[in-house]
Amino acid sequence: MFQHFIVMMVYVLHLNLDLDFELIFMKYYDIIIIGGGAAGFFAAINIAEQNPKLKLLILERGKDVLTKVKVSGGGRCNVTHAEFSPQELVRNYPRGEKELIGPFHQFMTGDTIEWFKNRGVELKIEEDGRIFPVSNSSQTIIDCFFNEAKKYEVEILNNHSVKEIQKKDNQWLLNTSTGVFCSEKLVITTGSNTKIWKLLEKLGHTISKPVPSLFTFNIEDKRIKDIPGVVAQNVEVNVVDTNLWSEGPLLITHWGMSAPAILKLSAFGALELEKRDYKFKIEVNFIRKPFEDCLTILKDFKIGLAKKAVFNTAQFNLPKRLWQKLTLASQITSETRWADINKKQLEALANQLTKAIFNVDGKSTFKEEFVTAGGVNLKEINFKTFESKHHNNLYFAGEVLNIDAVTGGFNFQNAWTGAYIVAKSISK
Ligand SMILES: Cc1cc2nc3c(=O)[nH]c(=O)nc-3n(C[C@H](O)[C@H](O)[C@H](O)COP(=O)(O)OP(=O)(O)OC[C@H]3O[C@@H](n4cnc5c(N)ncnc54)[C@H](O)[C@@H]3O)c2cc1C
Repeated sequence: MFQHFIVMMVYVLHLNLDLDFELIFMKYYDIIIIGGGAAGFFAAINIAEQNPKLKLLILERGKDVLTKVKVSGGGRCNVTHAEFSPQELVRNYPRGEKELIGPFHQFMTGDTIEWFKNRGVELKIEEDGRIFPVSNSSQTIIDCFFNEAKKYEVEILNNHSVKEIQKKDNQWLLNTSTGVFCSEKLVITTGSNTKIWKLLEKLGHTISKPVPSLFTFNIEDKRIKDIPGVVAQNVEVNVVDTNLWSEGPLLITHWGMSAPAILKLSAFGALELEKRDYKFKIEVNFIRKPFEDCLTILKDFKIGLAKKAVFNTAQFNLPKRLWQKLTLASQITSETRWADINKKQLEALANQLTKAIFNVDGKSTFKEEFVTAGGVNLKEINFKTFESKHHNNLYFAGEVLNIDAVTGGFNFQNAWTGAYIVAKSISK
């Protein structure tokens, strides 16, 4: 204690700061973690478990911690995704794909499932690969984190927003809204927080410009008007005049289009689409067949379904309401029979089915699950330890880094993996 007091006094003199009452009573820790979110708690618990002697503090600016975990996955917390090969898993990260391959060999999906299981939280895999707690409640994850943090006596201070970060004589000095703190090692898990990125710039780090990722497309078009909730199960979409391409289910919404085919484009195209101010054209292939093949099939229908109305005989497993919209857009009336459609109408229908162009004008948030592309430049991080290449004893994990993923549990997996490796490096 006396030693810490001396250290503090040396700082006071050395920094040439005013003899501030708060500074004299500055608190000293081995490790301070800034940010009480997913990555912050996971790092703290793993550090404490691996080395219980270390004095640990989480500083959180909000009045509550783990607020995003609480609302995540619609209140169910999509913890991770059932993808067990690092090579496949990384393909879900538009930013971070190359850098995460090594880390995922250290800690990934299976480890996450086991980590929670060992602490009494059973997870389950849903049909689409998303993994949730069996309880279907994010509170289970929060309770688990609180219990573990309590067990290892991790100190947590809410309402402590970090305003300044300084490095003096191999110690980190943090000025917060409610006092000054000092530590030997510093872990930054502040998510997408612009103020912290500004402080990190002052420390010599470069920040890739934050832009939104994971959003839905606003589209006003007769072909999708008044049919919200309709899903085309397996489409291909590309952004015209770019290399951006995706596949999967497409959901028609009140404002435009959503679901994985669109969300993947929004994540992989986050930078490109921002440059275009979210105004661009997409081409949708609703049936994932080339135009010529589609035309041949339609010609067969013309014979096979001759007496039936095109409007009422939805094909290619397309939902009836979408099929009807696409036939009307091909100048085929609701009464026209297959036998009576001419070549031009057949081609128009094949066109609508395989290369329908839609104008996107703006974006909307996806179930409030917004994620930010951007953050600490990945070239400045050693991915064996998640330590800064500019400063010893400065570590990062989670969304503060320029890493983000498509929806499905991948963003949390990034937080768990980074935090676990930080803990392993620090506790050594
Ligand atoms: C509504 C919603 C639902 C989501 N659902 C899912 C899902 O189901 N599955 C999934 O994988 N991903 C989901 N995500 C994304 C996921 O929540 C994030 O990727 C993840 O929380 C990132 O973790 P993190 O610890 O890096 O940051 P955060 O969880 O954002 O935590 C950062 C913490 O740092 C604190 N902080 C910031 N600045 C300071 C400061 N100056 N001083 C002190 N503290 C500070 C913040 O208050 C916050 O508590 C969802 C996101 C949203 C918004």
